[in-house]
Amino acid sequence: MAEEMAPSAAQGLLPQTDGDGFYEIRFESIGGLGAHLAGQILAEAGVLRAGLNGAHFSSYGSEKKGTPVKSFVRFCVPEREVKTTAPVQKPHLVAVFHEGLLRTEKVANGLRPGGILIVNSTASPAEMRRRLGFGCLWIGTVDALGIAVEERTRVNTAMLGAVTRAMGFLAPEAVRETIRATFRRKYPQLVEANLRTFQRGHDELRLEPPEAEEDGCPAFEPGGPLLGYLDAPLGGAVTNPGNSVLKDLSVSRQGFLPVFLREKCIDCGLCDVVCPDLCFVWETVPGARRWRRLLGVDYQYCKGCLKCVEICPVQALEQQRETEGLAAARRVQTRLAPAEGLEAGEPVVAAQAAR
Ligand code: SF4
Ligand code: SF4
Repeated sequence: MAEEMAPSAAQGLLPQTDGDGFYEIRFESIGGLGAHLAGQILAEAGVLRAGLNGAHFSSYGSEKKGTPVKSFVRFCVPEREVKTTAPVQKPHLVAVFHEGLLRTEKVANGLRPGGILIVNSTASPAEMRRRLGFGCLWIGTVDALGIAVEERTRVNTAMLGAVTRAMGFLAPEAVRETIRATFRRKYPQLVEANLRTFQRGHDELRLEPPEAEEDGCPAFEPGGPLLGYLDAPLGGAVTNPGNSVLKDLSVSRQGFLPVFLREKCIDCGLCDVVCPDLCFVWETVPGARRWRRLLGVDYQYCKGCLKCVEICPVQALEQQRETEGLAAARRVQTRLAPAEGLEAGEPVVAAQAAR
């Protein structure tokens, strides 16, 4: 494909490359946000429409909606062959499709000094830098989720717009043409909305230059399994007891969570019936006829499916956009020890007082 282009068309196009001649990009995302498709579109735009050579592939983990996904793109001049399919470990640019990943993944792992970190967030780049550090990086933020909600698309094309602008060497029209070609095949009705989403991601990216030349760069930490064949216990035993209790599912939420409105609740329990992750926390109200009263949601286990919002007959659960700190402020924590006042034989799951 790249051979069809005159070599000179791509010469000088890449702003910087590593020792192997590659400009490397990593998308950090979760299943369901479309990072794989975004990587594919970006690579196709560079190779088919900008005279570069390149490669794209993704790493899906357990291939479930809501679990971490990485997508990788490499560009080089057309004379260079791309023979490696190794994950991008020292990228020039990282785009984080879900802000929650900042808590659970080392998203900036290996970013080079002067590299670019773009986060899907309503925060300003300065706020993001205060939160993350990394003085030696360009920091960009874009409210890709807000754009996607308004345009009725997904965050991937908004992030693609932001990434295209931050890279600076790929003409937006090359990406736009690839978006047209991609969506026209299967979803022609989505072409225009995705083009608008791309353009808004491009225009609404806020990008701030590095504050320091070398200081505060994220170190490269090689990943990999904690246990290898030399030290894994026999039989592949899970060595972390109670791990499903410790698990934090909050990064699986795709930007929205259920907010509980105590004043509307009639304690019918329907939300608890449909919730797949036992997120609802109840207390026992003592008296002649003891009954159960809903206290709220333990967001540590909530993956944001919003089935509870759909089922609630009195709108005591409300879908809200997840902003920084909202889940922590509204969380009612599940306690795994008998609560004061509970008698032997009563359920051990009790809760803190309602907030
Ligand atoms: S479904 Fe609604 S009313 Fe019923 S317990 Fe849950 S929040 Fe309360
Ligand atoms: S959105 Fe509601 S039903 Fe879904 S996991 Fe969270 S609390 Fe449970």
